[in-house]
Amino acid sequence: MTRMWCLPTEILCDDHLRGEHAEHHQLVGTIQSHPHGEAIAEGHAEKGNIDTTRLEERHARLATEMERRDMNHDSPLAYDGPTYGAGAIDLEMNRTDLPDRCEDCAARARKHSRSQ
Ligand SMILES: [Zn+2]
Ligand SMILES: [Zn+2]
Repeated sequence: MTRMWCLPTEILCDDHLRGEHAEHHQLVGTIQSHPHGEAIAEGHAEKGNIDTTRLEERHARLATEMERRDMNHDSPLAYDGPTYGAGAIDLEMNRTDLPDRCEDCAARARKHSRSQ
C-alpha cells in the first residue's frame, strides 16, 4: 500500500524507511506512466495517504536518513505533475497507526519520544 507516513525519519525501522522511500518512486512512476495513474493517485489522496506537494521534500529526508544508515541511495526524485492530496496527510493518525503495525517502529518511537 502506498503511504507517505511523513513521521520523523528516526522512528522508521529499516524496512519502513526503505518501504516509504520506494513508494515515493513508485507513486511518481504510477502518476507519470500508469494508464489509470490519475485515478490511483486520487484514491490514495482520498484516504489521506499521499500529498504530492510534499513528495520531493519528504523523499529528500528519507534519502538523507538512508545514507546515514549506510544504505545505498542513488535515485533522485523530481515531481512537477498535478497535485494530489495537498494537506491531506493526518500526522496524528499516522503517529498511532505506524507503531500499531510494526513493533520495530513502535520501539523506535518510544525511544524518540523519550529523547525529546
Ligand atoms: Zn530515491
Ligand atoms: Zn517498521
